[in-house]
Amino acid sequence: MKILQKGFNYSQDGPGNRLVYHLQGCNFKCKWCSNADSIPAENPKAKDVDIRDLADEVLRSRMMFFDGGGVTFTGGEATLQADELTELLRLLRAEGIDTCIETNGSSPRLIEIAELTDHLIVDFKLADERSHMYWCGASNRTVKANIRALISSGRRILVRIPLIHGVNDASPEAFAEFFSGLDTSGVEFEFLAYHEYGKGKWRGRYEISDGFLPPGTKERFENTFRSLNYKVIST
Ligand code: SF4
Repeated sequence: MKILQKGFNYSQDGPGNRLVYHLQGCNFKCKWCSNADSIPAENPKAKDVDIRDLADEVLRSRMMFFDGGGVTFTGGEATLQADELTELLRLLRAEGIDTCIETNGSSPRLIEIAELTDHLIVDFKLADERSHMYWCGASNRTVKANIRALISSGRRILVRIPLIHGVNDASPEAFAEFFSGLDTSGVEFEFLAYHEYGKGKWRGRYEISDGFLPPGTKERFENTFRSLNYKVIST
């Protein structure tokens, strides 16, 4: 499995204290990506690690998984390495390790991966397909189909929506409309405000020039979703 970096964080990508692995490679190219180093399939900084060694490392870290913690796989896009990921998730499940996947939602194998995972965070960046193609470099058709399928199956998920001024912050209703008619009782929503922590990692032109949200924008999205009885978590 190709790993770009790893580290612990608390309650950001799943519950409790977690060992977070950033896998190399992504099939999207979001113009605001805060980890642009992780996008190419190949990166000399990434290490190829056998999944049995990874499982050993996770088990050795077990005492650090306090407050309901565990291990999280993110990216890049973790599901691009679906064969290794599913095998590793099986090994960890057999050991009782709590697992979380943070994904852009585009994998045709997401449902299979979700069944092996305790927590699932699915990013939803734009509802409109053409805008998604422009800003993220890929269609969102499979993302939407996966989100619908997961919700319809009753799977508990966290839908994470990054808000970027001038990209997707005009209409909370455009996002909310996608979920209307679905039973969202098992879904939590989280809105993330644009930041520029990863700007320095971009090679080439960084195209987001005015991405910071005007005051009150995030609250407007949260309030709209709450008014529709969607569960919103604020971070
Ligand atoms: S999906 Fe995530 S990792 Fe991939 S380009 Fe977009 S923000 Fe970056």
